[in-house]
Amino acid sequence: MNENLDSLYRDIIMEHYKYPRGKKKLDDFDVTSEGKNPVCGDEIEMKVKLKDGKIEDISIDCLGCAISVASGSMLADAIRGKSVDEVKRIASTIKAILKGEKPDEDLELGDLEALEGVKKFPVRIKCALLSWTTLIEGLKNWEGGKKSEVISTE
Ligand code: ZN
Repeated sequence: MNENLDSLYRDIIMEHYKYPRGKKKLDDFDVTSEGKNPVCGDEIEMKVKLKDGKIEDISIDCLGCAISVASGSMLADAIRGKSVDEVKRIASTIKAILKGEKPDEDLELGDLEALEGVKKFPVRIKCALLSWTTLIEGLKNWEGGKKSEVISTE
C-alpha cells in the first residue's frame, strides 16, 4: 500500500466523522442496540427499522473517536435496503478485512474499504468494529425475540 492510498483512506474516514450519515432521530424502530468499547471510550446507540426482512432505516448515535464514528456512518450508508443476511455477510467481511484476511469479493464495499487502513493499528480495530458488533448483536436479539443488553467489546 502506498502513501496516497493511506491519505485517501484517512480523508474518507474524516469526512464520515465530520458528517455522520446515521445521526438522526428514529421514532419508529424494531431493533435497538447499545455498544461500548471501554478501551477507547467509544459508545454507540443504534436503532433499526426493518421492513420485509430488509433494513429500511437506521439511526446511529456514536460518541467516540474518529474511527468509531466514521465506521458507524459507513455502516448506515452500507446497510440501508439490505437484507439481514446481507448485512451479516458485510459484517463478516469487515471483520476479515480488519484481520488482514481476504474479503468476500462479491460484496460492493464502497467507502467501507477505507476501514482496511485501520488494520495497521491493532488498538483501533475494536473502534472500527464496534458499530458492526453492536448491529449484529441487536439483530440476533431481535431474531431471538430477546431484549438487547449493552454490548461491550471487552
Ligand atoms: Zn475508538
